[in-house]
Amino acid sequence: MAIPERMKAAVLFNYGDLRVTERPVPALEVGEVLVKVNTIAICGSDPAIIAKGWQNHPPLGEFIPGHEFTGTVVLLSPDVTELKLGDRVAVEPHKGCGRCANCLRGLYTTCLNYGKPEKGHRHYGFCSNGGYAQYAACHVNTLHKLPESISFEEGALLTTAGTVLYGYERIGWIKPGETVLVTGPGAIGLISAQLAKVLGAGLVILTGTREDRLAVGRQLGADVTLNTNEVNVRDEVMKLTGGIGADMVVECTGKAGPAAEALELVRKNGRVSYNGIYHEPVTLQLNKIVQWNLLITGPKAEGMWNLERAIPLMADGRLKMKPLITHTFPLDEINTAFDTFIGRQGGAIKVLIKP
Ligand SMILES: [Zn+2]
Ligand SMILES: [Zn+2]
Repeated sequence: MAIPERMKAAVLFNYGDLRVTERPVPALEVGEVLVKVNTIAICGSDPAIIAKGWQNHPPLGEFIPGHEFTGTVVLLSPDVTELKLGDRVAVEPHKGCGRCANCLRGLYTTCLNYGKPEKGHRHYGFCSNGGYAQYAACHVNTLHKLPESISFEEGALLTTAGTVLYGYERIGWIKPGETVLVTGPGAIGLISAQLAKVLGAGLVILTGTREDRLAVGRQLGADVTLNTNEVNVRDEVMKLTGGIGADMVVECTGKAGPAAEALELVRKNGRVSYNGIYHEPVTLQLNKIVQWNLLITGPKAEGMWNLERAIPLMADGRLKMKPLITHTFPLDEINTAFDTFIGRQGGAIKVLIKP
């Protein structure tokens, strides 16, 4: 396969200034594979990265963001024998250093050498160059082979699905028949509701304010949706659970109010997973966590190879991504794509870019 010397890429020239330009196609280091990017999804974390950067990001004028992508293997470093030319792959953004105490335990999303490329750490689209480009150099550890039944477009959502699964792993998975309450019908919340059902939950309740998103949630498997503008969620949850609260609350709004209220919706001995990104401090009733024997966790990204767990679920149709994919733009229109995503124009949920 002929590899050009230059490629189109969206480069962050200054905070808030992302522009498509030409860049050299990246050279491969030991363990790396050149991926011809097919599809990349805008993540909820991308607007903040573009506005404010990220710790230890590549220099402005060189930094290529973007981290939820799929593509085709077009070149391999000679030591990489795990994949072959033409393989279709999904890229996992985190590549741990492989040598710190956390990486050695498989906890590579909390690598102790985070942001230190000289130690072998990469986080594509955050502190390493990512996928808003025609090509990306990715370590073999970060690549997951896509079966034919998963399209490049659906595969671009595997990182999000992996994050949701890691959240469930951290909180002790779901026991058959449990009641799971998911707050916030963004991509993480909608996939959390869907996977709760796949993992054996009994009743899945989804809360939110936008009726169109709640409708998608019902389509994906939520048994009950509650519009927080219209009903008292606590009253409704207590009615649905015989007055004891949900076995598990998965908080996906990222907002302080619902984050605190989660402790009012869970039962004694229940579990709360905080899956949102909280930009503000949140006040929680810590004594309730003690007195009610609550378990509280949160997942740091698609840890412990959970992206791989999502592949068979997506491949056989149990995990459906198509209802979440609302828009697709070419790379040249990346700023329109971001405006659409941020403004939720046309009911935007997941917005894809095709380099
Ligand atoms: Zn993401
Ligand atoms: Zn590490």
